[in-house]
Amino acid sequence: MQEVGREIFDAFPDWVRISFYSFAAIAILVFVIGAWLRANKYLKARKAHRSDHLLRRVGQAIAKVTLARSRIWKNDRFAGVAHDFILWGFLVLLLGTIILTVDEDLYKPFLGTSFLTGTIYLVYSFLLDLFGVLFLVGLVMMLYRRLRKTAPRLKYSEQDRAQGISIGRLIVDDRLFLFLLLLAGLAGFAAEGIRIFRDGTSFPQEWSPVGVALAWIVGATGIGAEGALTVHMGLWWLHAAGALLLIAYIPFSKAFHALAGFGSLVFSDDLAGRRLEPPASTESSGFRRVSDFTWVQLMHLDACVRCGRCHDVCPAQTSGMPLSPRGLILQLRSFVAGSKGNGGTTVVGNAIEPETIWSCAACLACMEACPLQIEHIPLIVEMRRSLVASGEMDKGLQEALTSLGRYGNSFRKPARDRAKWTKRLSPKVKDATREPVEYLWFVGDYASLDPRCQEMTIRTAEVFSKISLDFGILGEGESNAGNDVRRVGEEGLFEVLRDGNTKLIKTCKFRDIVTTDPHTYNTLKNEYPSLNEGRVLHYTELLDDLLRSGRLKFSKKLSYRATYHDPCYLGRYNGVFDAPRDLLKAMGVSLLEMPRNRANSFCCGAGGGRTWMEEGKGHGERPAEIRVREAARLDGVDTLVVACPKDYVMFTDAAKAAGLEGSLRIRDLIDLVEEAL
Ligand code: SF4
Ligand code: SF4
Repeated sequence: MQEVGREIFDAFPDWVRISFYSFAAIAILVFVIGAWLRANKYLKARKAHRSDHLLRRVGQAIAKVTLARSRIWKNDRFAGVAHDFILWGFLVLLLGTIILTVDEDLYKPFLGTSFLTGTIYLVYSFLLDLFGVLFLVGLVMMLYRRLRKTAPRLKYSEQDRAQGISIGRLIVDDRLFLFLLLLAGLAGFAAEGIRIFRDGTSFPQEWSPVGVALAWIVGATGIGAEGALTVHMGLWWLHAAGALLLIAYIPFSKAFHALAGFGSLVFSDDLAGRRLEPPASTESSGFRRVSDFTWVQLMHLDACVRCGRCHDVCPAQTSGMPLSPRGLILQLRSFVAGSKGNGGTTVVGNAIEPETIWSCAACLACMEACPLQIEHIPLIVEMRRSLVASGEMDKGLQEALTSLGRYGNSFRKPARDRAKWTKRLSPKVKDATREPVEYLWFVGDYASLDPRCQEMTIRTAEVFSKISLDFGILGEGESNAGNDVRRVGEEGLFEVLRDGNTKLIKTCKFRDIVTTDPHTYNTLKNEYPSLNEGRVLHYTELLDDLLRSGRLKFSKKLSYRATYHDPCYLGRYNGVFDAPRDLLKAMGVSLLEMPRNRANSFCCGAGGGRTWMEEGKGHGERPAEIRVREAARLDGVDTLVVACPKDYVMFTDAAKAAGLEGSLRIRDLIDLVEEAL
């Protein structure tokens, strides 16, 4: 085999080499300046305490975008395939360019020979051809999606409008970035074809199939040697121009997500949203100015690729409220870009309206959907903290917080009312503050005090008694666990509630804590750091455990055709998906899934303190109504099973409002357990 190799500037005149390196130096300089401006912003920002276990974090981030199939694949295979083609294609082409540069500018000048020859060059050539094709296919797929807007979420809405940024500009950036990549890729292949044509027929065809095919086409045009050189140079310049423009453009465009997005994955917190960070200091009153953001949060803002996945799944956006998680990120990004340090305008009230911040149900759907693990909820809570600190909240929320501060519950009921529901029970429910129990039942506000939920609470106690569970409650001493208090931004009150509950729980003797309320469950499990005894269980987990151990046995098969709604704070927040389903199946229930189930479940709209707030004007259909209609559309389903007191209340009201009262029964899972026992 004849020794094959590659000359980059082969027959080109010297000025080509000189001007290429000059333009490359300018492009790299622009890139470095742009990247420095961004990095400098991070360096000046508040600390984030996310640099621990750096190597592990980097490894996990690499796995998230490569081996473990990124979240881009989730619910959108087309985007997953396109993105992976572009990513892998780009990385291999970049590596190929680096190898070529090292060979041309370091190896050859010093050793007088090239290492890119013979078999090494043939393998190199083949891999670049293969990944180059994947790269182009991925780009065409992505452009098709963007141009044809095949997914509705790619369309920007009014909620995405940010100060100083027009939607038109966003669209241009979305496309320009892809076009530059496509230009560089197509021109690169064309230049390769004509180069091979000019090299003659000695090139082994199987090692560069695309280049050889293109060379054949060039040959068929009958072009002469001189013309071929001119065209080769033109195409080569086109390829170089696309690549150099892209390099310079990266820090100022969406393409920067390749760096900021990777950083976002490296420094993300898998418990973000589930376990909120306390304010930076005791004097801190949430986010007001750009200096309040941590460097990781600034990086998150830069990472957003405007894919709209968060927008698509947001219940607030779906029901026409003035919040889109994508819009929020764009508005914050625009605010940060236009801000000058500590001075200037405050974020809420200028860049973002308070109503936007209050519209969030803290359902975590946006964060679950985001392929770059951008953390929306902590940002929203920080802005809520600033609103709470200045007393800017609606009357309903104000009254609920006052009641929570005074009585430890949002129902304006004295503490002695909390255990009133136990009066109807025999044998008496144990007081865990006075005697040891196996299971400490943290009942929660809704289950204790809402008349519609009390029936369910009584049924739970009856089920526990029937299966001879040794359980007790905290009685009058229990206060709201504080999950939603924390998520509306009232950190001080949350700490009071948490510390009071922790102190009382620590006086009790028990093995595990059980609760029927997923909101309570989340905060006890993730946000009570000094509560390190025993497990925290949702009652469905406990019953599922007992079912597996044979302690819980059903004597009756239920013939319902039902669907199950995953509560956000149980499913998406804490990954409890199977226990409720296993129980339903064990009872003989024929279970049908709604289109949005498990981690994709659609929120009822009550979380994040929304249940205490007044409803704004001009909203479309409420999230709970959208959800009951989704359940009712399932073939033959007559029962919507819930496992959260708030869901029970929300869906019961929603079924009435949607006129589904006669056809869809809302039942708590405990209700069915009692029936099957
Ligand atoms: S947490 Fe839920 S309601 Fe809030 S912005 Fe995200 S998706 Fe929307
Ligand atoms: S925040 Fe995440 S999910 Fe939302 S548009 Fe940006 S990248 Fe996409």
